[in-house]
Amino acid sequence: MSSAARFASYFVGSIRVVILADGARTFPLTDDFVINATKDEINAALSDAGLPVNQITTTYTPILLDCGNRKVLIDTGNGAAGLAVDPAGPGCLSESLRQAGIKAAEIDTVVISHCHPDHVNGLIDENGNSAYPNAAILVPSVEWDFWMQMAPRIPAPSPRMMKLTQTNLKVFHSLKNQVQVYSDGDKILDGVTAVMTPGHSIGHMSFIVKSGSEEVFLQSDLTNNPAIFLRNPGWHGRFDQYPMLAESTRREKLHWLAQTRIRVQGYHFPFPGCGYVEQTADGYHFKPLTLGVKTAHGG
Ligand SMILES: [Zn+2]
Repeated sequence: MSSAARFASYFVGSIRVVILADGARTFPLTDDFVINATKDEINAALSDAGLPVNQITTTYTPILLDCGNRKVLIDTGNGAAGLAVDPAGPGCLSESLRQAGIKAAEIDTVVISHCHPDHVNGLIDENGNSAYPNAAILVPSVEWDFWMQMAPRIPAPSPRMMKLTQTNLKVFHSLKNQVQVYSDGDKILDGVTAVMTPGHSIGHMSFIVKSGSEEVFLQSDLTNNPAIFLRNPGWHGRFDQYPMLAESTRREKLHWLAQTRIRVQGYHFPFPGCGYVEQTADGYHFKPLTLGVKTAHGG
């Protein structure tokens, strides 16, 4: 059992938003973590946020939307592949689901925000079988076409692109009969609308969850670690596939979130990853909300 497993929840109108830890990974800060900022500048941002320097901790946080008769999981974490790398690290979503009292077989829909391994690897179990056998798996149509059709035909792909493509072909190989595609503006379920936010990947999606007078924006990977990228929206993380497009999408949505003060939930924000975006003189600041977090130990 992973000690990283935990969950928290809140309601948006009648929809229960369950935040599920898939764990976190800490790695040394490298020169190329941000392609247009120096290590010193990144360390200054970490230090200003009260975080240790020379290292980055990335958190992974899938979301389950529970509407009583529907259980919709958004992104699936690092899966068995993550646990194989570090049993105490990412890949503990299934344990967090268990702690939240939710069975994989009850989940009727899995929505993938974009096809990067920390979001899709959890679609399969350690034997390569479907981890959510009763679910429709919704994949953005632009992502599906890219990873299944275009990426495998790129001549001389970069090592990262080759790895991403191989991962997607492997993960989706046995799941094709479960996959359905969706597009910008589609209603995933009553009160949940897909919003295309491209740049981090070609067809990256975020989601507006709205019920009654309440609302939350699930921003997926629009912004990675907020201490670095909310504060410096012009910084380009090495994992953004289309850095200029990612920056313009990020600036537009951060401005909107700060103006409207709509609650935001970030996949890579520190657990539980829920709060508000505030404008500062030269960037943005994430103001986290305190939620009751539950673990196996009742903490
Ligand atoms: Zn991610």
